[in-house]
Amino acid sequence: MVLAQLGGSISRAIQQMSNATIIDEKALNDCLNEITRALLQSDVQFKLVRDMQTNIKKIVNLDDLAAGHNKRRIIQQAIFNELCKILDPGKSSFTPKKGKPSVVMFVGLQGSGKTTTCTKYAYYYQKKGWKPALVCADTFRAGAFDQLKQNATKAKIPFYGSYMESDPVKIAEEGVERFKKENCDLIIVDTSGRHKQEAALFEEMRQVSEAAKPDLIIFVMDSSIGQAAFDQAQAFKQSVAVGAVIITKMDGHAKGGVSQQLRVLSFLLVLESIWMNLKSFDVKPFVSRLLG
Ligand code: GDP
Repeated sequence: MVLAQLGGSISRAIQQMSNATIIDEKALNDCLNEITRALLQSDVQFKLVRDMQTNIKKIVNLDDLAAGHNKRRIIQQAIFNELCKILDPGKSSFTPKKGKPSVVMFVGLQGSGKTTTCTKYAYYYQKKGWKPALVCADTFRAGAFDQLKQNATKAKIPFYGSYMESDPVKIAEEGVERFKKENCDLIIVDTSGRHKQEAALFEEMRQVSEAAKPDLIIFVMDSSIGQAAFDQAQAFKQSVAVGAVIITKMDGHAKGGVSQQLRVLSFLLVLESIWMNLKSFDVKPFVSRLLG
């Protein structure tokens, strides 16, 4: 079910409940069952949906609500709050501090947008007066260093990498060391794309992480990946300490685009923090838009 349909189904369920002459147990249950069906069809995890139902029923105790209470509004608010809870990771991730050296490492599948996002991330902070630097620890993909170099040069951001060295662990270590000496306050380490079926590459990622000692590891994910997102995200999180997610290709030009948003977000609840194209994800406006 695409996002617009999901929002429509939930809004219709709420509307039907609001139109009922009497708000009784049946009207509430019908509404919650409709919402449950819509969320499950959008691949939101069963446990989350079940918890949402239970919580709403706990909050909206029809027997205890006096006749004067506006039950419709109370139910609507409870649904809104619970939808926000489903999408809210609850914790914020590590935040780098200006002037203090931080290392942020980017991981993800091939082609997810890591290199592009690394530069956007560096540029975002550079514009705020930080001193970022980029390290290309992707020795696997031919042209990866050239791509990072090109991006970094365009944005006037210092970079480190090698055409000769094939060990990404060594590059990560040397790059981080160099930029720490140069007093950079945000050292960004780009890594090769990999997926969970590639055990050796996962081991390599672990070693790069040990060498770079990142304060934050960001998992970069293409919004059109769909069902595979959950397994991949979980595999990355089990191997290295993923602390945040950036979802790329949300601009609607790429395949999948916006229609995948909720699907993707529900998969990501295994992770701690959600970023979207370098803007912090704000749950409430998102749910408001979803419900129209
Ligand atoms: P990497 O292999 O993970 O480093 O991925 P790249 O950064 O090389 O990106 C792969 C492709 O996706 C490139 O063609 C990028 O231009 C494109 N790309 C990356 N981020 C976005 C995005 O947010 N929107 C769109 N439309 N394309 C993107």
